[in-house]
Amino acid sequence: MVSAENPIVGSVKTVVKVRLLPDDQAGDVLGRTLVLCNIAATQVATTAQARGVFRNWDLRKITYQPLREEGLSSQTAQHVIKKVADAYATRTANARAGRYGPKDGARYQRIMGTSVVFRPHAAQPYDDRVLSWDHQARTVSIWTLEGRKIVPFTGAPEHLVLVAAHRKGESDLIHDRAGRWFLAATIDIPTPKVTEPDGFLGVDMGIVNIATSSDGTNWSGGAVTARRKTNLAVRRSLQVRGTKSATRRLKKRSGREQRFVRDVNHRISKHIVETAERTGRGVAVEDLTGIRTRVRHRKPQRSTFHSWAFAQLGAFLIYKAERAGVTFVQVDPANTSRQCSGCGHVEKKNRTDQASFACLSCGVSLHADHNAAINIAARGQQMWGRSQPSHDAACPRQPAGTPEQQARPFRAESLTGSATPTRCASRGRGPR
Ligand SMILES: [Zn+2]
Repeated sequence: MVSAENPIVGSVKTVVKVRLLPDDQAGDVLGRTLVLCNIAATQVATTAQARGVFRNWDLRKITYQPLREEGLSSQTAQHVIKKVADAYATRTANARAGRYGPKDGARYQRIMGTSVVFRPHAAQPYDDRVLSWDHQARTVSIWTLEGRKIVPFTGAPEHLVLVAAHRKGESDLIHDRAGRWFLAATIDIPTPKVTEPDGFLGVDMGIVNIATSSDGTNWSGGAVTARRKTNLAVRRSLQVRGTKSATRRLKKRSGREQRFVRDVNHRISKHIVETAERTGRGVAVEDLTGIRTRVRHRKPQRSTFHSWAFAQLGAFLIYKAERAGVTFVQVDPANTSRQCSGCGHVEKKNRTDQASFACLSCGVSLHADHNAAINIAARGQQMWGRSQPSHDAACPRQPAGTPEQQARPFRAESLTGSATPTRCASRGRGPR
């Protein structure tokens, strides 16, 4: 994956959760271990507050020995102290940022005057000295009050691959409200150098079509919308009932729906980034904040859902592009759907209906989302050109990629388009 021309230059940090599957006995001792760690942390926090000692090293001098005497291992004691120091560091940062109100205010005084308290099941960090992984056997060996326990783990296949290959540093032991156990592992993925893109693959996001690429590939939102409609109907009837079991079913349904959208977004972003990588292009999308404000609905609930779904697709694109060393840019979303990708003419009436685009100036006609995606690709190229002035100065200006992929400056006013119709014609037909 990483070749000589593509030396590692950076890394992407992320967190991957794997599920622990302790048997009853191991689950019980893990629970007691976690509770003890958090009781200990709350004690350390009380001492810290009383003595006005908040830094890790200073705190260790006065609290380490008592923690050892309570049965914590050396590593665990250090982690507990660090967790407390981190919590106070966060509190100080929040106070400085004014998040607790003015210094002489009641809220500020109350928060800064009380010691930090940890929930009995708050997450606990584990490092390699108290937690070891056997990826072949798919088990971890984890420190507990009763010595090391071997506990099986499971997770999404792609997550297991990441954990085996790129896990680094600490993992958090998590016990959720449903009683499940997880390890949230820190993943540090080395990223190949971002290569000079040979043009851009533009992506238009919408509701009818979740995504449409400048190559003309599109992903219909039909399945998502249909599922959402059924869910909304069921949800309404369950909400009316309002019983305990109805609430439980509601929760389950919304979880399922989120997983479905997540899966759709994963597949779309994977395809887009792989296509860009294979063809040596970058990925361009509309500025994601722009997408959020652009989507308007009668019902606020729907708009919240869509902005959430778009933000997730955007995040997946960014993450996957970064991991693959593919350039990613966000472009100005203004008029991408009203501008002709052939001649640059901007007019509201260019878009004849939701699905169709027909230029009133040069006559090009193609799918509206495809037209927008081509505009986004061109703006990506423009932006990239502008952001690389030193590169441009050093090298003679080279056409980027095939003539089709070349940047073409767009103007707000109409151009008499004798030079452009070839592009219109060659890319003129939409995906179907
Ligand atoms: Zn035109």
